[in-house]
Amino acid sequence: MKSLHRQTKVIATVGPASESEDVLKALILEGVDVFRFNMAHADHEWVREISSRIRSVGVDLNREPAIMMDIKGPEIRTGFLSKPISLAEGQLIELSHRFNSVSVDENELVQVQVSYEKLQEHLEIGGKVLLDNGLIPLEAVEKTSGSVICKALQDATLGSRRHVNLPGAETDLPSITQKDRADSLVGIECKHDYFALSFTRDADAIDLLKNFLHENNSDAQVIAKIEDQQGVGNLDEIIQASDALMVARGDLGIECAFEELPIIQRHAVGACQSRGKPVIIATHLLESMIESPVPTRAEISDVANAVNEGADCLMLSGETTTGKQPVECVSLLNRISARIESEIQPGLTEELELFRAKAKMLRSAAMLAMRMKNAAVLVFTRSGDLAAKLGALRPNGAPLFAFTDIDGLHRRLRLIWGIEPFLMPFSGDPEITIQNAIRKLEDEGWVHPGDQLVTVTNVLAGGRVVESIQLREVE
Ligand code: PEP
Repeated sequence: MKSLHRQTKVIATVGPASESEDVLKALILEGVDVFRFNMAHADHEWVREISSRIRSVGVDLNREPAIMMDIKGPEIRTGFLSKPISLAEGQLIELSHRFNSVSVDENELVQVQVSYEKLQEHLEIGGKVLLDNGLIPLEAVEKTSGSVICKALQDATLGSRRHVNLPGAETDLPSITQKDRADSLVGIECKHDYFALSFTRDADAIDLLKNFLHENNSDAQVIAKIEDQQGVGNLDEIIQASDALMVARGDLGIECAFEELPIIQRHAVGACQSRGKPVIIATHLLESMIESPVPTRAEISDVANAVNEGADCLMLSGETTTGKQPVECVSLLNRISARIESEIQPGLTEELELFRAKAKMLRSAAMLAMRMKNAAVLVFTRSGDLAAKLGALRPNGAPLFAFTDIDGLHRRLRLIWGIEPFLMPFSGDPEITIQNAIRKLEDEGWVHPGDQLVTVTNVLAGGRVVESIQLREVE
């Protein structure tokens, strides 16, 4: 049996440091499972060009990664600024939707355009406004009919189009904006496999995006990004409504108290695993490696903790968009994940409820594969459900091969913990499908003679289709 790289998956955000064919190739060979487009920074032509490049490199390498479009949802940003301006502690700053950009008036009042019309209605005097991912803290000191005047709480430098967070404030921003719709149409055109919705606050937001995708003939799946207190409060209904969850720690660490972050992360991972939904841990995993050749010791522990907790996926952002060594970051995740996984005691997720009889068989199949030497689990899936449930069981150390005949599903399955997906036509005769799958696994070097495949499949018995677990030895 070919030895596994790791069972925890890796998402790389694509950007100037990773867009070239050579780097994409190296990233796929290093094992990137999903590429992400962050629509805060991507224009449509670039998305079209790079999506098609990722697809063709994936096909050439016979390892097709999934593509995720991360749409920005109800976010607030400051306006355009041609060059950064300095803010001094105590300085007054007026925030308003009416301004065209950022400027300083004759009274030294810095006037900053923000993209939220009703800021003054939803922000209390004394409320916090955090600019640039929390680096610039402001406090609201006065409200006018069309603006809020804030005081800078420390010296800082404000750049162009910075992120605005309003911790604890409940806004009425639409869940999906016009820009999100326009971006998503490009993602649909490029056949992106996943759409991630930033600042998902409730299940309705997910339903809205799903309906939009269906209306536009896309079968892509939807990932809820949990980034604020409202999203955390509605976690259960959000997990129920979505296909996967992302713990977006960048914004979450601004919107919630720092010390809550590890607790939210652990809770979100457990809640997703028990429902059989993939969960992604995102942001700052190897942040220092944007510049530095080695990670900090704390980053190594953070990655190890996410693997230990049972995350399906680790996501890189700046590390692969603008970082100096995108490929090395992925190989570091490989090293840390593989080492930590090897320390995890084999055992299956007890909390996962399996409803269909065939899904219930997965537990026995996974247990058998874990207890045998040189054994993997082999499943066949058209909806992806069987593969999702198999991964959610977390059969540590046992390779999990999932075959599908649905084009696109083979890419989507890459998000799921431990699943190695394959696209292959199915025969009307289940036996021929199994034989073809084993041949493909052998041809591609995944299995060797003597290896065991615990196969969950249909068989024809007395003219009836019967669900079964079979032990197949590779010949
Ligand atoms: C985050 O906030 O952690 C995140 C992934 O979102 P974005 O990169 O879109 O800000």
